[in-house]
This record gives sequence, structure tokens and C-alpha cells, in this order.
Amino acid sequence: MKVVKFGGSSVADAEQFSKVKAIINDDSDRKVVVVSAAGKSRNEKIKITDLLIELDKLRISGSDYSNILNKIMQRFLRIKSELGINFDIESEIRKIEVNLANCSSDYLISRGEYLTAQLMASYLGFKFIDSASFMMFSKNEIDLNATSKEFHKLYSETDKVVIPGFYGNQNGNIKLMQRGGSDISGAILANILNADLYENWTDVSGILMADPRIVSKCKRIDSLTYGELQELSYMGFNVFQEEAVQPVRVKNIPTKILNTNNPHSGGTLVVDRIKRDSKQLITGIAGKKNYTIITVKKYQLNKHLDILQKVLSIFQKHNLIVDSVPSGTDSFRFLLPQTELKGVLNSVLSELKNNCNLDDVFLNDNIALIAAVSTELSKRPAIAGRIMQYLDKSLINIRLVIQEGSDMKVVFGVSNADYEKTISNIYKNAVGQ
Ligand code: ASP
Repeated sequence: MKVVKFGGSSVADAEQFSKVKAIINDDSDRKVVVVSAAGKSRNEKIKITDLLIELDKLRISGSDYSNILNKIMQRFLRIKSELGINFDIESEIRKIEVNLANCSSDYLISRGEYLTAQLMASYLGFKFIDSASFMMFSKNEIDLNATSKEFHKLYSETDKVVIPGFYGNQNGNIKLMQRGGSDISGAILANILNADLYENWTDVSGILMADPRIVSKCKRIDSLTYGELQELSYMGFNVFQEEAVQPVRVKNIPTKILNTNNPHSGGTLVVDRIKRDSKQLITGIAGKKNYTIITVKKYQLNKHLDILQKVLSIFQKHNLIVDSVPSGTDSFRFLLPQTELKGVLNSVLSELKNNCNLDDVFLNDNIALIAAVSTELSKRPAIAGRIMQYLDKSLINIRLVIQEGSDMKVVFGVSNADYEKTISNIYKNAVGQ
């Protein structure tokens, strides 16, 4: 049995709906279908979820939202009428409209998935199961046992079902996941159903080794491990939600990233282990811009844990999430996304300078982090040195390197301005064309 998830672009309009139907009809094992809200396509320029977020803002501020509500209505009506779907979507939208006066934002923003799944269920002739009736959250985390128990009350093995992604139920209220969360919904369903395969249908034929806007003719990753995918997603690949990896990983459920617009073009397979040709140094290169490094200095700082404690308490007070970077005996370096520091940077710096008895505090900003990821790195740590040599030859100034012993990634910090150059350089030398 396969759990199949279709992203927003795969369900954006009537043309995309019909591609989904062809994919489902092609394989009778595709029994559990999870959908995102109608997203962007050639004809549609805005995601339904973004329209709902806008609608939510307008109603909270007491502004006129009729225009946006009408856009949402028209979009679903167009899909319905172009495909001749016999489902009363108007009444569903009217019900949401009635609830606008006192519903939660999570409820409202989740309606894109709810409506898209209702239409899709009717179009495919599948049963609709609402995520609010089984996807159980407890303390903001999914409770897998409760979810499995509730789901099996609603589902029998012969069923073919459509389920909205992106939300669940916490204490009787709708609870949203983070953006892109339908990947997580699909992975949870694959987990609790012990699926043979989790197919994640998108608008790309698998995951590429690097950003194709930077590396032209970039090769596809034919297969990679869950660990590698998790690292690449964390470091900026946005084909698959980072948190969707764990539910399939713990049950070792093979996962495929496929293209709805080109279903037979192959894709990327994600599995537990891969035997690789030893010439291939890295699996993928991902990166993110706009980081700040804060360096604190004190003679023999490694012996003054009390000072370090004060430094950490300042970060904690400002709710900052920091990564520490290996440093010398007299200094410690902390890495933070620039967006986190917005509005609090001056206070953080002055508190560090005035309250911690340090010799010096300074910062480097506009740092880009670039990760080369491969399970091979844990076996052959010297690969990192080789990559550094390439970068050195290209006169790229490396500000920091992070490689943990057993880790499968090495992260290089360079200036934002060197971001693209660093990625294409690592690709050219470690992957080749
Ligand atoms: N519709 C939501 C979003 O745009 C969730 C999803 O697509 O998975 O983020």
C-alpha cells in the first residue's frame, strides 16, 4: 500500500487535478492520498494558503475582506465546474464565512487543505477523512499513538481515502503545522499505516544536488539516505519538510520525490542505507545566507564557565537560538540567523560587554553557511580538507568550518558575497560535470 502526497502546485487548478487522477488510476496501491491546499501553477499566481493568511489579517484588523473571500470562492468553483465535480463547495465556503466572526486563525488558514481535499475526494470517488478527526497533537507535538488509534477507527484496509494535510487537532481545536506541513501529514500516515512506499509528488523530478539557479545542468540525486535528506532540508533545500523525515525514517519506509507534471521522469529515492560508488565525494550541497557570528573573548575563557553561563543567559533572555562554533581557549563563537537578532542586537551586545566581564566582544555579519552533505564524510573526514583546498585555490575566504566527528556534513562559513561562488566551486570540484 502506498501513501501519496500531492503538493500545492499539483492541485493548483483543474488541469493539475486531472494529472493527479491519472497518477492515482495508474496504480491501485495508491490508496491514501494527502493533499496540500491549491497552490501556484501556470495559471494561478497565488497560493490559497497565502490568500487565507491575508484574509485572516483583514478580518482581525476589522477591514473589508469580501474581495479575498470572493477570490477563494471563485478559485474552487472554477476547479469544480471545469471538472464537473458534484460536490457542494459553495456551502462549505459559506459555512467558513459564517465562522469568520469568531474562529481561530489556525482554523481559517487550514481551510485551503480542507476544501481542496473535499473536492479531490469527490473527483476521485474516494472517501474524505478530516485530519481534525484523527491527527492528534499533544503539547504542540503529534502524538503518534493517539493518531494511529483514532485513524484506525475511521479507516479500513480496503478504503481509498483523501486526507487534507497541514493540520490536526489539539484539545478539540484545529492546530496548524508549519508551512509545508502536508509533507509531515503524509509521513505520519505512512508511518501509522506501515506503508510500502511514501510518494511525495511535487513540481520537480526529484532533488537536485545543488540549487539549479547557481549550478546550471545540476545533476539529480537518484538516491540518498534519510539522514542526508534531513541535513539538506535543514540547510535550505525546500523540496521536503525537514520534520517529515523522522516519521518515515523510524519505520524505514522508502520515500520517493516525484514530479506530477512528468510522472515517468524518475525522481529521488530516500532510504536507510546506500552503497555508493567511492568516487562520489558528496551527495548534495545546500546553504543559507545572512548569519551573524558573535565572538566573546576572555583570557582562558575555557576555565571560566561562570562567564560562559552569563553569556548564555543573555541569549536565553532574548529567546535566541544559538549554535556554538568550535573556538580557541580564549574565545567562544556563537552563530545566529540575522533575522533572530533583529531589534535586539544592540541590547545583546551591550549586555555582553557590560555584564560578563569579558575582554572583548565582536561580531561578523553577512555570513553564508554552505553544507556539503554525504554519509561518506563520516567515513572519510579528509574530504573536508580536500574541499577546503579547492576553496582556497579559488581565493574564497573561509570564515569558519564546522565538522563534527560522526557527522555527515561539513559546513563552511563564507561571506554572503561568496555564497554562489562557493557552491559552484564545491560542485565543480567534488561532483564534476
Ligand atoms: N498549504 C500549506 C503551505 O502553503 C501547507 C503545505 O503546502 O504543505 O505551506
